[in-house]
Amino acid sequence: MTQTDLRTHATEIHEQFSDRLDVTVEEIEERLSTLVDEYQVPTDEARRSVVNTYLDEAGMERDDLSGGGGNEQKAVADIDKAEEWVDITVKVVDLWDATSDAVAQVGLLGDETGTIKFTKWSKSDLTELEEGAAYDLRNVVTDEYQGRFSVKLNRTTTIEQRDEDIEVGDDATEVEGALVDIQSGSGLIKRCPEEDCTRVLQNGRCSEHGEVEGEFDLRIKGVIDDGIDVHEVIFDREATEELTGITLDKAQEMAMDALDTSVVADEMHEKILGRYYEVRGPTLGRYVLANEFAELDAPADPDAALIKARSI
Ligand SMILES: [Zn+2]
Repeated sequence: MTQTDLRTHATEIHEQFSDRLDVTVEEIEERLSTLVDEYQVPTDEARRSVVNTYLDEAGMERDDLSGGGGNEQKAVADIDKAEEWVDITVKVVDLWDATSDAVAQVGLLGDETGTIKFTKWSKSDLTELEEGAAYDLRNVVTDEYQGRFSVKLNRTTTIEQRDEDIEVGDDATEVEGALVDIQSGSGLIKRCPEEDCTRVLQNGRCSEHGEVEGEFDLRIKGVIDDGIDVHEVIFDREATEELTGITLDKAQEMAMDALDTSVVADEMHEKILGRYYEVRGPTLGRYVLANEFAELDAPADPDAALIKARSI
């Protein structure tokens, strides 16, 4: 542990108590340093111990601390708003390669209800999370991008490793029914080529980056009617190719011959509209991502089946 690390912890603890106790950053740092350097106490434990001392001195409960608790404990699947401060108990399912120096760690966390992406900033100077380990994470901030939620660990986040393992739930959704509609923005599309953007272009323009030279991609935004509800599903390029038998190369050829990209969506309509599918995958906003799918035999009398299902 370097002195800079202790100073960061001391500053954060100071922020938590500055309006309740007359204590300086230096004094806090000294206490931490005694525990860490002289008694070889791990930094996280030292920090907890020092915080507990000040909680006693201030006559406060841990839940009174700003940035130390008092947030709602949330299940991963219940995170549905951005900019919320929450506590979560999770297992590190997967660690990915950070694509920026500003990010110390990025990956996937999970609990019984599902999984969620996390980002840990370099400047927050937190303990390294280990894949497969379970943690209590307090004071993480939720975020949202294109309907998908994530959590960000920041410099006020506390990380406590747990002894008990966590069973990570399968958050896949399954829908089954007739493909009754294919939405606009399906077929041969162009995406923004800017790094990490991939937005679908509208008339050659990205809503973020303006006019760009797009990259071709295939997708289908479909609507499946299970007889009770309708569900929106997205087939990515791979799934679309498998579903329709039209590859990206073929689709580009078709569009070039016709001088029109819409011929691709038209052809896809013919091939799949009205057929029955079972689709399984994670949800992204209001969409189910078709990670797995299978074509089903149509009910012998689809109208009867629909009427029966609606009457339940
Ligand atoms: Zn863009």
